[in-house]
Amino acid sequence: MVEPVKSPHVTDDEAEAIVAFASDVAGALGLPTWQIAVMEEPVRKKHKADATITPIDGRYFAEIRLAKDWMTFDEARRRQVIVHEILHLLHVRINDVFEDARDYMHDHEHASLHRRFVRETELMVDHLSLFLTATHTIEEAWDTAHGKRTDDDDGQEAG
Ligand SMILES: [Zn+2]
Repeated sequence: MVEPVKSPHVTDDEAEAIVAFASDVAGALGLPTWQIAVMEEPVRKKHKADATITPIDGRYFAEIRLAKDWMTFDEARRRQVIVHEILHLLHVRINDVFEDARDYMHDHEHASLHRRFVRETELMVDHLSLFLTATHTIEEAWDTAHGKRTDDDDGQEAG
């Protein structure tokens, strides 16, 4: 017997559009070598996040997981969340510095420092996302990724 297909939390079209949009944003940030994938599994419950991004060790490859109720978010929120996640790729090498610090710190010291590091990077990423959204044509990139406009569109109405 064939199992009924569970309704996916993200449609294939949306996953494809998110990859295209994320790649566009990464390119705008000077991170064009990164490959980004949207995972079939949603965000893990413990993270309680709209999305998470996991860079794979030693590769320019990152996995994005989206919230279970992703498709109910309005477009502005979805755009903002993806920009936020891509900005985390800017500090991947600094994450590694903190991981390296495990070698010479006690666990409780490292945990405490790491908590502070996460707090500050989240603030930095939120700050940068406002800046990026104001300077890069984020809305256009989103619409293009979702097939709502072509690269030929110059913003003028056809007449
Ligand atoms: Zn974040």
